[in-house]
Amino acid sequence: MPALTLGGWSARTLETGFLWLDGGAMFGSVPRPLWSRDHPPDERNRIRLAMRCLLVEGHGRRILIDDGVGDKFSAKLADIYRVEHAEHTLERSLATLGLEVGDVTDVVLTHLHFDHAGGSTAQREGRLDPRLPRARYFVQRRNWDNARRPNPRERASYLPENFEPLMEAGVLTLWEGPQEPWPGFSLFTADGHTRGQQLARIAGPEGTLYFVADLIPTAAHVRIPFVMGYDMAAIETMDEKRALLERAIREHAWICLEHDPGIALARPVADGDDFAWGERVPAGADAVPSGRA
Ligand SMILES: [Zn+2]
Repeated sequence: MPALTLGGWSARTLETGFLWLDGGAMFGSVPRPLWSRDHPPDERNRIRLAMRCLLVEGHGRRILIDDGVGDKFSAKLADIYRVEHAEHTLERSLATLGLEVGDVTDVVLTHLHFDHAGGSTAQREGRLDPRLPRARYFVQRRNWDNARRPNPRERASYLPENFEPLMEAGVLTLWEGPQEPWPGFSLFTADGHTRGQQLARIAGPEGTLYFVADLIPTAAHVRIPFVMGYDMAAIETMDEKRALLERAIREHAWICLEHDPGIALARPVADGDDFAWGERVPAGADAVPSGRA
């Protein structure tokens, strides 16, 4: 799994499995011929998406950003979302690094949609418990409020079993707006996809890395008008995406793509009035190309 060193942090992508979501919903108003070549849909018009998390170690912490869909789905939901855990799970990916869930000290949740936070809790002996037993979990208060009183379009994505047990166990901290909880590790909010989503920036003298969750879910979404049909506010997403990409280009930063099945990290470049990718790191790569991180 590719790793980057940034200001005393070691950041590496962690595959936790795949799920399949409706291709049309993933690309909003973009016509199918423009997305289906790179994302071939199955017979139910779903496309394969990674659930790629980021493990960031340093400064005495071992931080996980997002934790995948988890293992609580009924057979019916596992079929609807075609959840694949044959190749990757959170536990197996941690094990390849000699780690287990109990070694994670902090879990930063970008937002509480089930494909990002479903791995936060686990059904054990008839109870729902935090799946990372020693970790403190963090989410934006506005996203928590949104998740507990979801609007009708988001209701199927905010499942109480993924987050209520965290609060009951006293391990969930609600953040108010942008944060810098650790040196060089900061969070900022983006509201177009869902209210109170938070994105991570990890920076050091070697360079900068962004974890942008559902602001740019796959490589194809680097184009400004490629906005998911799932998003609450397409105009806000486009503004937030442009601001993020302009900043990342100035910083020559890497961006981690949480849902792209093939590309784990990439550097954005300007392309006329829009954006594209320069250097890319495939999901299965051992290392990030040498040179400036
Ligand atoms: Zn989402």
